[in-house]
Amino acid sequence: MRISVIGTGYVGSVTAACFAELGHEVICVDVDEKKVSMINAGKAPIWEDGLEELLTKHAEKRIIATSDYDYAIQKSDVSFICVGTPSDEKGNIDLSIVESAAVSLGEAMAKKEHYHVVVVKSTVVPETTEKFVMPILESYSEKKAGKDFGVAMNPEFLREGKAVYDFMHPDKIIVGAIDERSYFMVAELYRGLNCEVTHTKPTTAEMIKYTNNALLATKISFANEIGNICKKMGIDTYKVMEEVGKDFRISPHFLNSGAGFGGSCFPKDVRAIIGKAEELDYTPKLLRSVIDVNEEQPMGMIRLLNEKMGELKDKRITVLGLAFKNDTDDIRESRSIPVIAELLRQEAQVFAYDPMAMEHMKKIFPNINYCDSAAEALTDADACLLMTEWNQFRRLDKEFAAMRTCLWSCMPLVIDGRRLIDPKELSVKIEYEGLCW
Ligand code: NAD
Repeated sequence: MRISVIGTGYVGSVTAACFAELGHEVICVDVDEKKVSMINAGKAPIWEDGLEELLTKHAEKRIIATSDYDYAIQKSDVSFICVGTPSDEKGNIDLSIVESAAVSLGEAMAKKEHYHVVVVKSTVVPETTEKFVMPILESYSEKKAGKDFGVAMNPEFLREGKAVYDFMHPDKIIVGAIDERSYFMVAELYRGLNCEVTHTKPTTAEMIKYTNNALLATKISFANEIGNICKKMGIDTYKVMEEVGKDFRISPHFLNSGAGFGGSCFPKDVRAIIGKAEELDYTPKLLRSVIDVNEEQPMGMIRLLNEKMGELKDKRITVLGLAFKNDTDDIRESRSIPVIAELLRQEAQVFAYDPMAMEHMKKIFPNINYCDSAAEALTDADACLLMTEWNQFRRLDKEFAAMRTCLWSCMPLVIDGRRLIDPKELSVKIEYEGLCW
């Protein structure tokens, strides 16, 4: 089938590359000309494992990119909206980018004679597809949904860093469609993947996505709260969760305590569903607590640092890990951001290293010291904060010997926010403090 993908960020570029790999012809549409040129050159606009290989394989054969909506809509049967849905200043969902994509789609559909299906893949709060996107499409195309064109909502569940694998090996495919025709056209696109396609209403599909993310975020904040309690009593929370996770009703995943969740999805999606609930006059106390625990959690790193070192003014503090998680260059809502902001507020000298995310972080903190390696960042450091679970940080050992030692223990101080280091396994003696263990 012929597909157009509107917005080629993390979700759009992976969706485009994977649909091409499944044999479809794909036209990517983005307002960012740089991304358009990159895709046409077979280059990935973002880092994702396996993405560049697929784009190189299919660019200018099964994938082309353009900023021309008219061309893309004329030459495709189905359009996927994959633009961003950030939070507004109150934390509610900001639909302005979806709105502008829907306006452009509607205008292009007005010039098209044949049936077309518009699929919302962006994460949007329940009712958005039918009560916000669909009326815009109808108004700008002067056509009728369900008659002249189809509408569906097809949420995306991929994990950044594993997005290509997740797209090709989904555990669920949800198509919330306004009618059978829209549903069958979208379901057909996924033929070839070994996964059942579930047909729901658009609102149910929208809610499944939020519930999925809110539950995962809740597990993390729950594990962090238990970890904070365990820390006070010297109980190993990882041992606790390992055993708790053996209960098949719970599962062992997302029970690792640490510095909290970040990324483009969990924080904004939990806030957005809170906003939607409040709009409906319901106060979601549990979900608010999930956010509160998560806001507080990275500050625990600073509290431990202050307990150990007192004032941080002019102290050289190394932050290892800037991406919100390993295997991505994405820093959106990274827990390193509030930690660095607080270190700067306390007038520490911040040295930082991340294998992928430094260029992005320079836009937020242009004046901290970026290093070429963890070893360089650790040299002469008064303390090290481990913030992202990169595998290469698990292998650090002798590099800690280049740090300054603290006066009271005569050892380098390492505070671990992700349980990456087992000090007993190191050849170098360090003063080690785990955030929740
Ligand atoms: P992103 O910001 O990385 O990408 C959005 C892209 O849309 C950008 O390339 C931007 O230039 C482009 N764009 C903006 N306005 C446009 C317009 N009018 N027309 C065409 N293109 C336009 O966003 P993302 O991380 O890919 O997320 C997209 C959506 O998918 C969001 O709703 C997000 O919540 C959801 N989602 C994200 C993930 C994830 O892991 N990133 C996972 C599942 C769902």
